[in-house]
Amino acid sequence: MIIFGSRAVHLDSAQSINATCPSCNTQGSLVLSIFRKHAHIFWIPLFPIGKVGVSQCQHCKNALDENEMPESISSRVNKLKEETKGPVWQFAGVGIFILLFIIGAFASSQSSQNTAAYLASPMAGDVYEYKFDQGSYSTFLVARVVGDSVFVHPNEYEINKITRLYRIEKPENYSTEVIGFSRADLEAMRTAGDILNIKR
Ligand SMILES: [Zn+2]
Repeated sequence: MIIFGSRAVHLDSAQSINATCPSCNTQGSLVLSIFRKHAHIFWIPLFPIGKVGVSQCQHCKNALDENEMPESISSRVNKLKEETKGPVWQFAGVGIFILLFIIGAFASSQSSQNTAAYLASPMAGDVYEYKFDQGSYSTFLVARVVGDSVFVHPNEYEINKITRLYRIEKPENYSTEVIGFSRADLEAMRTAGDILNIKR
């Protein structure tokens, strides 16, 4: 269940000396208040939606929303709105999203650097994730490296989603058969985008 909604946060209130209450005609009795709404998901504020103003008479307690106020009061409310800043924490969700994006971009660039480094010095036990065919992925396991040749055990299974490779990446799935690649072959496969990731 996703809980999504909005909340209003009180920012500021000011008593107006000149305004007159439209209900009881008392001058100087109106308190103008500004709120800022924000959208939230699971009570984590995402971003502000906008400010709203209300007025309340301290004398007759009559409260007015913006759409009920005479222009003389709404103009004061609008001025107060412009002067009032909302808290930064109402952007918390946007901040978290940006942070996750940066972490993701960093992790992805790290993984790409690792793949290049592992390809440059292959080792027995390395697992290569590769594109087996259009829309199909598999892995092979490096058995041994002899000079410029890399001998691998192919995985006997393939899967249609790269994120599900872990399901077939099991020791018992590797064929006892051995296939040899030159390092140049592997480099070419990586350049072509067929080798996606190397795990060590
Ligand atoms: Zn009043």
